[in-house]
Amino acid sequence: PGGGPDGDAGPESTTFADVGGMTEVKKLIHRMVVLPRSRPELFARYGRRAGGGVLLYGPPGCGKTLLARATAGECGLPFLNVRIEDVIDPYQGVSERNLHQAFETARAVGPCVLFLDELDGLAYARHKHRGSEARRLVDVLLQELDAIGSDNTGLTVMAATNAPWDVDEAMLRPGRFDRVVFVPPPDEPARTDILRVHTAELPSQGTVDTGAVAARTSLFSGADLRAVVERAVDELIEESLRTGGEPPLDTPGLLAAAERVRPSTLEW
Ligand code: ATP
Repeated sequence: PGGGPDGDAGPESTTFADVGGMTEVKKLIHRMVVLPRSRPELFARYGRRAGGGVLLYGPPGCGKTLLARATAGECGLPFLNVRIEDVIDPYQGVSERNLHQAFETARAVGPCVLFLDELDGLAYARHKHRGSEARRLVDVLLQELDAIGSDNTGLTVMAATNAPWDVDEAMLRPGRFDRVVFVPPPDEPARTDILRVHTAELPSQGTVDTGAVAARTSLFSGADLRAVVERAVDELIEESLRTGGEPPLDTPGLLAAAERVRPSTLEW
């Protein structure tokens, strides 16, 4: 129980096309992570090593996990997802072993993206156990990060936190999480794009004005927008059950659904 990365070990199929908005962030990740892995000869020629982890931070539900998964997809690599919360165990020494095991599993997979979600859980652990146990867990993570630079296993580490101010400064040193990237709450064009991603496959007859819905959903995260689409779709399914038809998704249906979803980036 706990500690092991989930998912099978095949290449990830999610790509940047599945991530709405984030134009700048995607460019940055492409340059920092994807290119060095897809064109290693170019980077070697100029003596640039691909290394160091990427720490994503920003409000919940705005696509950090999705972006990390899509980065794996862009690199054609498997994606392994580990929540720090699942690593932490009250028995002495077990958390460290779980974390080490997660890296072992990743190394056994071969080149892949290992994603550590909820990194702020480490800081939480520090407060909870007050002291050496949590310190040792951070030290294990630092050792694992430092080892990547020299072991050539092609492991790419990405991590996410909602609370960057809680992240141990030692983790931000060169070769560790030396790139810190803000994943912002979506602005209006980004919301339009996220709505496009989530409605693209649904029955509609040109009846969705994603821009109009984006304009009325300020402060909605990507996850909130997905919830809006899901609510609207639930209504369509009800209607289809009643009428036997295939009612299309439309703008009023989405706007009505948006009225009933509470924007979550409000509290950040
Ligand atoms: P948390 O901090 O709560 O872990 P997160 O930033 O990792 O949040 P995700 O788990 O990636 O957010 O987002 C949750 C879901 O919301 C995604 O699986 C996706 O369906 C939707 N979503 C969020 N952002 C986007 C986006 N930019 N484009 C498309 N879908 C998005």
